[in-house]
Amino acid sequence: MKQRSYGEPPSPAGVEDNTWSSPELERAAFHAGRFLADLGARDVTATLDADALRDALGDVPDHPMDPATVIDHLAEAAEPGLVASGGGRYFGYVTGGTLPVATAADWLVSAWDQNAAFHPMSPAAAIIEEVTGRWIGDLLGLPTTASFGFTTGTQSAHIVALAAARHAVLERVGWNVEDQGLAHSPALTVVASAARHVTIDRAVRLLGLGAASIRPVTCDDQGAMRPEALRATLATCEGPTIVCAQAGNVNTGSFDPIASISEAAREADAWLHIDGAFGLWAASTPNYRHLVAGNADADSWSIDAHKWLNVPYDAAIVFVADPAHHLAVTGVTAPYLPGDPAMRDGSDWVLEFSRRARSVPTYAALRALGRSGVAELVQRCCELASDFASRLSQNPDVEILNDVVLNQVLWRHRAGAGATQRVLDAIQSSKRTWMGPTNWQEAPAVRTSISGWATTPNDIDETLELIGSILESVRLDR
Ligand SMILES: *Cc1c(COP(=O)(O)O)cnc(C)c1O
Repeated sequence: MKQRSYGEPPSPAGVEDNTWSSPELERAAFHAGRFLADLGARDVTATLDADALRDALGDVPDHPMDPATVIDHLAEAAEPGLVASGGGRYFGYVTGGTLPVATAADWLVSAWDQNAAFHPMSPAAAIIEEVTGRWIGDLLGLPTTASFGFTTGTQSAHIVALAAARHAVLERVGWNVEDQGLAHSPALTVVASAARHVTIDRAVRLLGLGAASIRPVTCDDQGAMRPEALRATLATCEGPTIVCAQAGNVNTGSFDPIASISEAAREADAWLHIDGAFGLWAASTPNYRHLVAGNADADSWSIDAHKWLNVPYDAAIVFVADPAHHLAVTGVTAPYLPGDPAMRDGSDWVLEFSRRARSVPTYAALRALGRSGVAELVQRCCELASDFASRLSQNPDVEILNDVVLNQVLWRHRAGAGATQRVLDAIQSSKRTWMGPTNWQEAPAVRTSISGWATTPNDIDETLELIGSILESVRLDR
């Protein structure tokens, strides 16, 4: 193999023999293929600690290294620190893994290296994004007139959506926040569930609204907002108000009652934003669509593609019902960006200026799955979760803490905090599966999230068997 180094002027690849080859891409394909083929069998958790991983990477190199060797070295150094989060028995956080077709499309994104900021920089990237956004809006049943942006995650989708909300509700009282800022603006209230996701708080902080502007609304025992409590809170709010509802609580998978929240928000002249990071995908699935009834009446929505649609990090979408409110906060103009009003510029709808063609893997996933495939992916995860919960509940030591309405199972050891922690420690050190901790109603609990295409009924059997033997040994020890 011819050695190349980026420390020397490169020879144009493939010019000599009219075939193109890139040893570094071939090595990357080899390592990626091996990693993916082994994903179901390898240890689920990392096998080396942080110091060992640091040592393997070393200090700033003095000299160039052959690029293909860099890829070999990188794969070797990283491998023991990788988590098999795309495998069938990883149930931590809400983690979807990635469909091979989406991974492959992501490679093209990097090879093409298109800047998806403005249409002239890459008509292909611009139009793929336009088409993909329209497809997702269609799958979720959102208004066809809604605008959208491809963001890095639900976090940044929230920032864009709540900035549009801030704009709109202040505009209604005659305040142009983009021009006049917040220092002397009318006070703004954010009403959100007590069980909201922490990314709402961070968006509120970043937007200068202040954490103290959030009025938490009481929830039921599933973490879903109580509509009568929302109405009572809204009755005490004066002036510009934003309501944040949640489709899919990160612990229980529960849904805020969107239809009645939407009605209450409309009566209060408040903006309604929906955090649908994973749960909003229920809208794409006939058997689960009822969970988000009324969804289309909101003013903005955030949803991840990198969770339940199973595309690689990072990919999410923000939708805003009225494009004018969206454009007011993220639209950009400059003399060197003449723009064509008929052409959509991706950068106009997100926080980034230069950006990768983030929509492409999502396009590929949707193209491969189709409407029925998306519905089937969501439904299969939910059915596996419900099967997992009902079989686990047979064990007398286990208490299932949530109504399993979606893909999340929340459970604990009946003997309490200590025993739950021991079960969780044993699960996490088993290397055969992984689940994360949480605190639910003041007590430690285990979260099991089934969000990946790779999880099979067999994985559920194996995981239940493992948990069964862990529970048995905890019982013998007590
Ligand atoms: C994961 C999650 C978020 C944050 O999404 P990111 O893509 O990680 O930024 C927000 N809300 C809910 C309900 C989530 O599950």
